[in-house]
Amino acid sequence: MALTDPRKKYPVISPPEQVQEHPGLETEATPVPDIGLDTYVGSGKLEGRKALITGGDSGIGAAAAVAFAREGADVAIAYLPEEEQDARRVIEAIEEAGRKAVAIPGDLQDLETCNATVEKAVAELGGLDVLVNNASRQIFHEGIEKISDEDFDATMKSNIYSSFRVTKAAVPHMPPGSSIIFTSSIQAYNPSETLLDYAMTKAAMNNLAKGLSQDLLPNKGIRVNAVAPGPFWTVLQPSHGQPQEKITTFGQQSPVGRAGQPAELAAAYVFLASDDSSYVSGSTLSATGGTQTP
Ligand code: NAD
Ligand code: MG
Repeated sequence: MALTDPRKKYPVISPPEQVQEHPGLETEATPVPDIGLDTYVGSGKLEGRKALITGGDSGIGAAAAVAFAREGADVAIAYLPEEEQDARRVIEAIEEAGRKAVAIPGDLQDLETCNATVEKAVAELGGLDVLVNNASRQIFHEGIEKISDEDFDATMKSNIYSSFRVTKAAVPHMPPGSSIIFTSSIQAYNPSETLLDYAMTKAAMNNLAKGLSQDLLPNKGIRVNAVAPGPFWTVLQPSHGQPQEKITTFGQQSPVGRAGQPAELAAAYVFLASDDSSYVSGSTLSATGGTQTP
């Protein structure tokens, strides 16, 4: 197979200035992020598995959903009701792969929605053995005084509470051999001054993955890991995730010289979900385009 220079695998993008209301529609971003619809080829690594992915309508979660289905898994995606347009594409891709797709719209800031999301996934998939806690809210502010209490609360609820509650509801359903994956971030280690609330929630994902692994691996045979992406071009960024001046050069400062595309992360989630990573637990897999992490 021909070698690919990682600096040139995808173009260096200079997205035009663009603003969407949170959570944004990926299908209306410029350029449209690549979630692997035209490229990801599976090889049976997740045959018969049953996966729930929060935030699976777009970006990194969508890339994981497409890849999981093409690897043979039935996949439930949770997302916000206003994201139906993005979710439909992913549902269709899962079904085109010959797998069962379950669509679960709802706001995971709410405890009952977290519990109902897991119950619906378990009921419709006939069980659950992969959980990807990926939904997150990222809204930039120029410093701590600009973060309202409502904003702080919404970020904590969307990112930390949802991941904790969904996991708590899912664990009793997950048999030995199951895998739980959290989406962390480079922000867990190198927080931006404009993302104070968001960055602390990403540090929490690393911490929860490590702590939970101490319990679930020895006691239940469930592995728990995290993925820490660097700058990936997704609609998270132009829907108030970054100031406009950071959009136009997004990702260009990373050692690889460009933003990542969600499709480039899918295999990391497949690896952590599959038996290929049977000796990996309590770890964070970094995909930062070369930026150093601890
Ligand atoms: P994205 O906007 O495409 O996906 C985030 C998803 O989170 C949304 O699609 C939405 O469905 C979901 N979400 C947010 N709040 C929710 C709520 N209250 N209830 C239910 N769902 C909710 O963006 P993405 O970049 O693919 O983000 C996926 C993950 O990757 C996030 O955890 C994010 O923190 C992480 N991440 C992204 C980057 C990046 O550069 N894009 C870098 C590091 C980490
Ligand atoms: Mg979305």
